[in-house]
Amino acid sequence: MLVPWRTSACRAPLAERPGARWDRCGAKRSVPGHADGVESDRLEPQKGMSTVTRPRILVVGAGFAGVGCVRRLERKLAPEEADVTLVTPSAYQLYLPLLPQVAAGVLTPQSIAVSLRRSKRYRTRIIPGGAIGVDLRSKVCVIQTITDKVVDEPYDYIVLAPGSVTRTFDIPGLTEHAYGMKTLAEAAYVRDHVISQLDLADASDDPAEKASRLQFVVVGGGYAGTETAACLQRLTHAAVQRYPRIDPALIKWHLIDIAPKLMPELGDKLGRSAQEILRRRGIDISLGVSIDKAGPEEVTFTDGRVVPTRTLIWTAGVVASPLIATLDTETVRGRLAVTPEMVVPGQDGVFALGDAAAVPDIAKGEGAICPPTAQHATRQGKSVADNVIATMRREPLRPYRHKDLGLVVDLGGKDAVSKPLGVELRGLLAQAVARGYHWSALRTNVAKTRVLTNWLLNAVAGDDFVRTGFQARKPAKLRDFEFTNAYLTPEQVRAHVASHGTDGLPD
Ligand SMILES: Cc1cc2nc3c(=O)[nH]c(=O)nc-3n(C[C@H](O)[C@H](O)[C@H](O)COP(=O)(O)OP(=O)(O)OC[C@H]3O[C@@H](n4cnc5c(N)ncnc54)[C@H](O)[C@@H]3O)c2cc1C
Repeated sequence: MLVPWRTSACRAPLAERPGARWDRCGAKRSVPGHADGVESDRLEPQKGMSTVTRPRILVVGAGFAGVGCVRRLERKLAPEEADVTLVTPSAYQLYLPLLPQVAAGVLTPQSIAVSLRRSKRYRTRIIPGGAIGVDLRSKVCVIQTITDKVVDEPYDYIVLAPGSVTRTFDIPGLTEHAYGMKTLAEAAYVRDHVISQLDLADASDDPAEKASRLQFVVVGGGYAGTETAACLQRLTHAAVQRYPRIDPALIKWHLIDIAPKLMPELGDKLGRSAQEILRRRGIDISLGVSIDKAGPEEVTFTDGRVVPTRTLIWTAGVVASPLIATLDTETVRGRLAVTPEMVVPGQDGVFALGDAAAVPDIAKGEGAICPPTAQHATRQGKSVADNVIATMRREPLRPYRHKDLGLVVDLGGKDAVSKPLGVELRGLLAQAVARGYHWSALRTNVAKTRVLTNWLLNAVAGDDFVRTGFQARKPAKLRDFEFTNAYLTPEQVRAHVASHGTDGLPD
């Protein structure tokens, strides 16, 4: 369950990939209502699907943005109006803001993995795999399925919502020794890893080993890093009561960021409150500091300190999915440049949104770009679906506009800070707002019920700090969980489509 999709053959050239085959029916078709009347091939239609010609809408990525778009398309379009297809490596929409709570054991992994197939009304065809390149000229998306098969999917309209991946820097040892907090697998892995450090420290008589196992470093003072440090510190604080051979004073959490403030979006007062809460709980916060190098048993900070640790969690920002670079179009700080209507300029029927796109934030004003948040991605999903439909019907498109609702930061237990609509809240009230916001944003009632039940159960029964052993002895560092090395270059995409795009099966 743990690896999003297999990458074993990822670095091999296309032709050498094991099992690489192109399944297609070979029939060409022309698309009514489409500006160019494009002709193309497509995958075999599924059993029961009509073969009547209709526009094909391809959505890439089943995150906040992609699923928001697909559900809206299903609601607003009659089945005979268009074929909607979703490409996604996983069978769920991950509710990322609650990942730190999965790492802390407050929630089970399943509770934040929202099913894509919950209802019969969800009629979108799902291709289990990841897009590894898009040829905008031929209107073909190249997909590597979860069995490493490479297939081409022609489209008339494409909605690009592949999100982002963890941003890394050229720091010696970083990718070899750091863990991420961006996928469900990482959250589950980090939980096991932290508990195993307690188990191993408890069993060790070597003071140096104990010290390195009981210090933990989180890099990144945004909401992801701050919540991760806060939730995991609560985990070790509670768990250590069950380890009579460990002196609780030896456990130390470090939260560091190169910026001068934690979560600057919170403003000065609330940001200071968050820091005070964390410092009171014993988390050592270092600002204006990053890491110089990382090793298996220690991390060197840029201020010269060497911290003995076997746990480095890296949450220092995100960059757009590498899929964006396969398009060879304009980007803004790595995110695909789009108009306020989320259209890629000069490209017929191409839309992009969410963390992968630089959507102008017209509510903020000239030059602003929407930050990479779930709040924006969800709303952009609905808005882009409306614009796809408007394009099909030759109606005017609407620009995306959303005024930020604020920020909620769950620091675990009764601790939280929130700023809904500019109102600064702390403590239980902030916690109620944070959890209420996340709960209401979960997409299905069953997911809501699971999360609520988990919160109640955790409040009443606590955690048993069980190490499950999933993924034990497997590589699990930054690059092992995120799908970053399978993408084609723009030239490879063009060459691939040119050689296989219209001729059916390759040799
Ligand atoms: C720990 C953490 C805490 C956060 N907390 C908050 C918060 O409190 N509030 C907030 O607003 N935001 C928060 N965020 C940010 C928020 O989760 C993202 O901004 C949001 O998920 C972006 O939505 P998206 O749809 O663009 O991308 P995602 O939700 O990441 O979805 C992208 C989807 O595309 C899939 N995909 C990737 N590559 C491909 C490919 N090549 N082909 C097909 N599919 C692909 C992925 O598997 C994924 O399903 C948090 C993020 C993290 C990591």
